[in-house]
Amino acid sequence: LDPETFAAESRSVIDFLGGYYRDVESYPVRPPDAEPGRLRTLLPDAPPEHGDPVDVILEDVRRHIVPGLTHWQSPNFFAYYPMNASTAGFAGEMLSTGLNVVPFVWAASPAATELEGVVVDWMCKLVGLPDRFLFSGGGGGVLHGSTCEAVVCTLAAARDRALSRLGHDAILRMVVYASDQSHSTFQKGARIIGIPPSNFRVIPTSAASGYGLAVDSLCSVVDADVASGLVPLYLCGTVGTTGLGAVDPVRQLGEVARRYGMWLHVDAAYAGSSLICPEFRDCIDGAELADSVSMNPHKWFLTNMDCCCLWVASPAMLTSALSSNPEYLNGVSQEGAEVVDYKDWQIALSRPFRAMKLWVVLRRYGAAGMRAYIRRHVEMAEWFERTVRADRRFEVVVPRRFSLVTFRLRPRYEGDQEVDALNRKLLVAVNASGRAFMTHFVVDSKFVIRMAVGGAMTQMRHVRDAWELVKEKAKEVGALPSD
Ligand code: PLP
Repeated sequence: LDPETFAAESRSVIDFLGGYYRDVESYPVRPPDAEPGRLRTLLPDAPPEHGDPVDVILEDVRRHIVPGLTHWQSPNFFAYYPMNASTAGFAGEMLSTGLNVVPFVWAASPAATELEGVVVDWMCKLVGLPDRFLFSGGGGGVLHGSTCEAVVCTLAAARDRALSRLGHDAILRMVVYASDQSHSTFQKGARIIGIPPSNFRVIPTSAASGYGLAVDSLCSVVDADVASGLVPLYLCGTVGTTGLGAVDPVRQLGEVARRYGMWLHVDAAYAGSSLICPEFRDCIDGAELADSVSMNPHKWFLTNMDCCCLWVASPAMLTSALSSNPEYLNGVSQEGAEVVDYKDWQIALSRPFRAMKLWVVLRRYGAAGMRAYIRRHVEMAEWFERTVRADRRFEVVVPRRFSLVTFRLRPRYEGDQEVDALNRKLLVAVNASGRAFMTHFVVDSKFVIRMAVGGAMTQMRHVRDAWELVKEKAKEVGALPSD
């Protein structure tokens, strides 16, 4: 690595990206003519024998790669959930990747490990979690790459806690509980840690509970399992479900979890960011009864991919499930000292310096700046919801939570059998226009369109344009009678 070349080529990349962000609004959000296998036809079969200059590579990125991308940072991206990039997130990522240290044990990079401890404590306070998740309160946090990873780690901790009590063959009797709105990662995680697939319970939710987990339904399933000799192991609660943004009643879930000796994990992957605003804090009421909580700053917190905060009330539970102690990692210079070795808080050994990125975001925007950012998106989503409601041809299917609006064309008459097909056509037409990208969900057998506001470059005018686009395409697909 030659420092002069490093600086010059990095500047070229930054100029390229500056241009990308200047232009991204003008690109179709999804590639209009993408076909499977297209890129392979554009690139050589083998790597070059001799390296190319960076400008030549960037030119290929511009010609071949960018036109085939879905532009997640487009201000007209309203699909899935947002995956924020920001100037500070990028600066932090550059510092992290530029320094390229690997804090798997404290000694491998002391300040990187310690910054992670500081930053997860800051985030813990910001989102209003109880002190028991702070290092000073006996708990602690770690930065993973994804919620999926965080969930597997907590499932492993819960499993080992139960195995040490019940003996090794108890794994076949252990049961994991989730709602029909919980993220699929819980089911995958349960499989990975050895829970028999038939012991994963999916509790149905309904409009009556706002698609949150109803405790009565949960308890009757748990009671039946206990009566048949099974062992309740782990309960998944969600603040802001993926499809609808629904919120489970954390306190009540915590009480049930305590009663049956289950581990409670609260997944706030998306909506966790909103908890920095006091008006959303009641969503996490009862968190002191949880064993672990996670949220993704890489979604709606201006932190470039990837970054997931996981807090646990008892780090020892996590580390006893995940620790390994090969001789080559033993620090000889700090024997006896109490340090955090983050390799024991995750699956992989090597890990990036994610704390730098989140720390730069928090330093650069501050808590007030982040609250304003979240509220701006919520206001835009409120506007969109109000506007949909005011148009008798459309309906809001589930009341907005956070910055997610779920809507559809209303059935045109009692028993309209085509309404789902029409909404599907509408979504396809909206996305094919390249002027916006939204995704769908199915709730109570209804096909609904999700408008997830939260892009770092999204402004009110983009949300207004998206609504105009929806109306225009609804006419084109023949779904709307005249105004
Ligand atoms: N949980 C919820 C509620 C989500 O919405 C998502 C992704 O959208 C996930 C978990 C998965 O997160 P990750 O991709 O970080 O594993």
